[in-house]
Amino acid sequence: MDWALERKNLVKELKLEGIKDEKVLAAIAKTPRHLFVPEREIRDAYRNIALPVGYGQTISQPYTIAVMLQALELKKGDKVLEVGTASGYNASLIAEIVGKKGKVFTTEIVPELAKFANDNLKKNNIKNVKVVQTDGSQGYEKEAPYDAIIVTAASPRIPQPLSDQIKDKRIMVMPVGSLYEQEMLKIRKVGKEFEIKKLGFFIFVPLKGEYGWP
Ligand code: SAH
Repeated sequence: MDWALERKNLVKELKLEGIKDEKVLAAIAKTPRHLFVPEREIRDAYRNIALPVGYGQTISQPYTIAVMLQALELKKGDKVLEVGTASGYNASLIAEIVGKKGKVFTTEIVPELAKFANDNLKKNNIKNVKVVQTDGSQGYEKEAPYDAIIVTAASPRIPQPLSDQIKDKRIMVMPVGSLYEQEMLKIRKVGKEFEIKKLGFFIFVPLKGEYGWP
């Protein structure tokens, strides 16, 4: 397989679908998604679809991730929290965008997936991502506050700890809704208020834990 060519075609497709953020497109063009999927899915690695990673979980569709990363308005040097590591692919895209001076903390509740992601990140020689096996619906207080927070699992509401752990004027992006369909929210914290922009409907696996689904 010509992975570089496949990546190029994926980027082309994302552009046609309306993704404009050059930093996001460059990160997708550079990051080897085929090294983040299980061996049996490798041939489909650059299709614009979600793929199973085991334990009933998935690596998200590239288009969905691109919409979310674009909305986060990331800058070089940002400290970012991700909830829902799964493969580590999204975390590595963020790492690419925030650069060497930036840092990504990504939380995963399933121990086997935290290990899977760690192995994948190592294979890709990515050093500015830390995988933490914990209930990320409670955020990760130890490194708060964050410049950006992204939740890649379906949330019944905006988890309170996350709104406490985001910096003022900065953005959280997460799918909020029922177990069957969620609306992507771009949430900017402004003092004690939120400015919320809706980015369309998506389907995610459920957020578990204290502020997730029982
Ligand atoms: N961002 C991932 C895809 C996420 S799929 C990628 O790039 O591959 C959603 C993940 O969220 C699943 O792995 C699931 O186990 C995890 N998850 C669900 N509830 C969680 C919680 N409370 N804390 C941390 N991770 C959680």
